[in-house]
Amino acid sequence: MSIKIIYNKGGETMKHKCKFCDKSAPNNMQGYCQVCYRYFILERKEVYDLPKYGEITYAPNGDCICPFCGKAFRKLGMHFYYAHNMTSREAHKEAGWDQNAKATNPAYRDLMREKLQDKCVTVNLIEKGQATRFAPGSSGRTRDKVSAMTLSRLKQNRFKGGETNES
Ligand SMILES: [Zn+2]
Ligand SMILES: [Zn+2]
Repeated sequence: MSIKIIYNKGGETMKHKCKFCDKSAPNNMQGYCQVCYRYFILERKEVYDLPKYGEITYAPNGDCICPFCGKAFRKLGMHFYYAHNMTSREAHKEAGWDQNAKATNPAYRDLMREKLQDKCVTVNLIEKGQATRFAPGSSGRTRDKVSAMTLSRLKQNRFKGGETNES
């Protein structure tokens, strides 16, 4: 009995499979496939209890927990696709979620919304306001802002002894 086990585990011809998800695993990944190696070893993330059918649950950091394998991600869409071969729509149906349920970390969602708002504010106040931004309290026209044409006229005036405001 023990011989058989040793043979099966150490057999050179046996294809290595990820100890978490059964995908093929290279020798140097501590028994994980590349995806799981990154998840468990590099990112030090854990697996959580699966939610009940129809429930969306979150990890302590707010990441959304996959209802099929218990891994948690900021958003599950790509994970559903690559890990479970399901489109988001199929996954939601399978998990008993509404189609419009948001399988994302709420904090991440807020962050994205803030970024979007920031961008709007930036565009509206700074970029669109650029033409008028310097008007109030402006130091007026300084030498470097005077157009080339005005500058040559000023020079001519001075040459002719004409009136300038410069002293
Ligand atoms: Zn894996
Ligand atoms: Zn999963």
